[in-house]
This record gives sequence, C-alpha cells and structure tokens, in this order.
Amino acid sequence: HMRRELKQSRRQLACYSVTLQQQANEDGLTKLYNRRYMDTKLEESIAWHGRRKIPMTVILLDVDFFKPYNDNYGHIQGDKCLQGLASTLKQLFVRAGEFVGRYGGEEFVLVLSDTDSTAAKLHATRIKEALHEMNYAHDHSSVSDRVTASQGVLSFVPEGGESIASIYEKVDQALYQAKQSGRNIFILRNILELTG
Ligand code: GH3
Ligand code: MG
Ligand code: MG
Repeated sequence: HMRRELKQSRRQLACYSVTLQQQANEDGLTKLYNRRYMDTKLEESIAWHGRRKIPMTVILLDVDFFKPYNDNYGHIQGDKCLQGLASTLKQLFVRAGEFVGRYGGEEFVLVLSDTDSTAAKLHATRIKEALHEMNYAHDHSSVSDRVTASQGVLSFVPEGGESIASIYEKVDQALYQAKQSGRNIFILRNILELTG
C-alpha cells in the first residue's frame, strides 16, 4: 500500500514539475513564451546557425497606437487585443524552429530558424495580412481603421560574437525606422549594413 502511495506521489510531483516548467517559460496574459525564454532561444539559435553558417531571422513587432487603443476601448479590451494578436501569431508560426514570444508590453518577438531575408519578407507580409484579417477595430489609429503593427526584421548568418543585446538593438533600430516611416509596415535590415 505504501509503495503504491509513494508511486502516486512521485507521479504527481513529476506532473507539478512539468506545469511549473511551462509556467516559468510563458507570459501570463498571452500564454506565449516570455522574454526570459525567448532570450534563451535567441542565444541557442545564434550558436546553432553560426556553426552551420545558415541564416536566421528575428522580428520585433510593436502594436501601432496602442496607447490610444487603451484610452478609448479600455484596458480590459486592450488585454483582449493583445491576446487575440498573440493567438494570431501563434497560428502563423507552428513549425519546429519558429518561436513566438512577448517581448514586453505591446511588443512581440519572433525567432525564426533557417530563414533568410527573402523568406523573412514573406513572413512579415503574412503577419501584416493576418492582422488585417483579424480586424480589430481601431477608430483612433491614424494609419488604418483596425489594429496594425510595425515590424523590425533582421536576417543574418551569425558569425560569432553577436550578443543577444546587440541583436535586439539592431532589430529595434529597424522597428524604430518602421515607426518613423509611417507605421503598419516592416523594415528589413541586413546585419552588415548596421555594423558597417
Ligand atoms: P506607437 O504607434 O508609437 O507604438 O504608439 P503606442 O501608443 O503604441 O506606444 P506607447 O509606447 O505610447 O504605448 C504603449 C501602450 O501599451 C501603453 C501601455 O499602457 C500599453 N500596454 C502595455 N502593456 C499592456 C498590457 O499588458 N495590457 C494593456 N491593456 N495595455 C498595455
Ligand atoms: Mg511599444
Ligand atoms: Mg506601440
């Protein structure tokens, strides 16, 4: 009897441990990967692609005019919008080697394996189209009648020496440019262009 009980407690413990592990890696609101986990994935990806000399892509996406969205539709609806966006992104990127996470606030990050700039452009376009289809009304956006996002896109073959901070910095510069250029667009950057 005791042996059976022990076995059962062990099973339960293993189960809790899996749940805890999942919770440690996920963002509470959107259930996407959290920033900490994405940092790990980015670091692993840089090493993996660097060894094989193949390209990878990082996309940083920021919702356009989200402050006015919250101000006008309320914070609860704002949260729902982020959840809707998260599930749209999750549905688009389901393949092995595709990681979608919440970078923070109304910003999302994608790490895409084996993806060069040509494929990255297609992905960024797919995201833009999916948001259009999602069709969350936004009467206080000056670029569209619905919720849109700007994207910074960085495709590169790691050469060693790239830190995750330097990658985020570059992709953030591209995002900033997308915002400056009017929003609801993506800007693709080549890593050499930025370091050179
Ligand atoms: P831009 O087009 O330049 O990106 O403008 P913006 O209004 O989206 O940018 P800003 O950084 O001014 O506002 C971001 C807003 O996102 C402010 C903040 O209250 C909101 N936000 C961040 N995290 C959450 C969240 O978890 N839930 C909700 N509802 N709002 C959030
Ligand atoms: Mg932002
Ligand atoms: Mg924003």
